[in-house]
Amino acid sequence: ECPGRLLELKGNIRVLCRLRPGTPCGLVSTEPGPGGTVTTCYRGRQRRFRLDWVFPPDASQEEVFRELQPAVLSCLRGYSVCIFTYGQTGTGKTYSMEGPPEDPGIAPRALQSLFQEMGARGQHRVTLSMVEIYNEAVRDLLAPGPPQRLAVRQGPAGQGGIQVAGLTHWDVPNLETLHQMLSLGKSNRATAATAMNQHSSRSHALVTLTLRVESPPLGPGTAGTLHLVDLAGSERAWKAGSTSAPPGDKERARRLREAQTINRSLLALGGVMAALRARRPHVPFRDSQLTRLLQPALGPGATAVLLLQISTRHEDLGETVCSLKFAERVG
Ligand code: ADP
Ligand code: MG
Repeated sequence: ECPGRLLELKGNIRVLCRLRPGTPCGLVSTEPGPGGTVTTCYRGRQRRFRLDWVFPPDASQEEVFRELQPAVLSCLRGYSVCIFTYGQTGTGKTYSMEGPPEDPGIAPRALQSLFQEMGARGQHRVTLSMVEIYNEAVRDLLAPGPPQRLAVRQGPAGQGGIQVAGLTHWDVPNLETLHQMLSLGKSNRATAATAMNQHSSRSHALVTLTLRVESPPLGPGTAGTLHLVDLAGSERAWKAGSTSAPPGDKERARRLREAQTINRSLLALGGVMAALRARRPHVPFRDSQLTRLLQPALGPGATAVLLLQISTRHEDLGETVCSLKFAERVG
């Protein structure tokens, strides 16, 4: 199969699907490849979902990255690219995005590949920022000192941009520094995780790399951006029970609020992607902090890739179908 076929696919939003390895229950089957399908059998009903790309069940990290690499490298030509991992907690979002050290995922491979290309040309200036969105609060993961909640504002009229007041942007001269900063950001995220159970799967993590061209042919000022977004788990645990907590049950009230804000922001992301895909005049960017932050990156000419992670386990079928429906809506 030809690597990088992805970029030739229609539209500027692509949906890829990767399965969490494990013993399949037989109710989720796939036809891998471009225009591949996932078929589910749930509550006696068979549904077939077509995606831009379906990876075979045993797909390696390298195989996944191979499909994304052309989109990643297009940042060097001034394009804006967003890569999301979407799915229920435990389906491999973080595995695909970060991966274990011995088998790195999309982020380390993308950065390595970008720096390799840049090294050959030496005309880019790279800056990095890293934020987390938890309960609609935006937090800088690279700011020195205690974590601060940042305000997201509309930029000056006519410029269409977004300003995140106080967000730090770091110059990254080389790959080594970049890796150091990424692990700093990760450990800042982990600090919160110990204080709050399962925090990392309840928040969105965004890594943004800006590549500014410092010399011709594109001319100074032309910037490409790469956003790598590990989304919060999409499961709707709260749907099973009541949508209000019993009086006094603070923990349950907190978790419900958490689940509802995640759900709302993922719905907003779906709404934005669906509007962009359909080329609707109104794109509801303002519906969540996630979509507000990504507004400049999801405009015309941008490429968005949604890597849908699904489980093949019987007990996850409901969530698997929900995830595929999300993909159907945006793709
Ligand atoms: P999520 O971020 O979606 O909650 P994780 O990435 O943490 O899920 O994955 C859950 C578990 O499954 C982890 O232990 C991870 O190492 C493992 N895992 C996920 N995908 C794969 C894969 N493709 N190959 C091997 N292990 C995987
Ligand atoms: Mg995760």
